[in-house]
Amino acid sequence: MQVNASSQDAKVEEAYPSQTGQSQVGRLGSETIEYRKINGDNVYEGDILLTDAQVSTSGPRTESAGRTTGKWPSAIVYYTIDAALPNQARVTDAIAHWQANTTIRFLKRTNQTNYLTFRVGSGCSSNIGMIGGRQYINLASGCTTGNNIHEIGHALGLFHEQTRNDRDTYVDILTQNIQSGYENNFARYSTLGYSGSDFGALDFGSIMMYGSFSFSSNGQPTITKKDGSTFSIQRNGLSTGDLSGIDIMY
Ligand SMILES: [Zn+2]
Repeated sequence: MQVNASSQDAKVEEAYPSQTGQSQVGRLGSETIEYRKINGDNVYEGDILLTDAQVSTSGPRTESAGRTTGKWPSAIVYYTIDAALPNQARVTDAIAHWQANTTIRFLKRTNQTNYLTFRVGSGCSSNIGMIGGRQYINLASGCTTGNNIHEIGHALGLFHEQTRNDRDTYVDILTQNIQSGYENNFARYSTLGYSGSDFGALDFGSIMMYGSFSFSSNGQPTITKKDGSTFSIQRNGLSTGDLSGIDIMY
């Protein structure tokens, strides 16, 4: 399932690298969450963009944000690629990888209302699930095909693997080593049923998983396995766990 290139130096995706913005409290589904307001965007866990409606603390909320709008009908994602985006093979290769390994289909948009546009951004970022209307995957020049496979995972509804409910069974989070302002990237996401990767055991090889040294302030690990050992970030392709999560979701 590997695409190409080594993931030795793969980087974790960020919407606005080196910007932490303002901390905000909102609700996502039934959970109170902390996110960051950066350049007008609601940034969650580094590279997930939440809509104002998704984080709204007012109004009736009888169902989680993700369950109502999260899935692409018939597992079909309509998309366009902005003409100004350099290195568009990052998009076509990432889409080819998803299509070769899952039942999700990506079709060029003609006149559909709900669709995804790949465009230039200041980092790598995506909304979580289908939000309705046009939505974006933003790709800076440093975002690789592997990073884009990860962002497409968010657009399909996947959260980061280390935010699963049960992650404390598998990992220790070393808050003292996390860069200031990035602590929330390691928060646990506990609205059940939203994240497909909550199924099965925590997958250290998931393309949605951070590495041991992601967002480290001091060169020391931010996440270790329970035995204290470290693990590498993987951004080559979808893991077996990613595929079963997507299979269950779609
Ligand atoms: Zn991400």
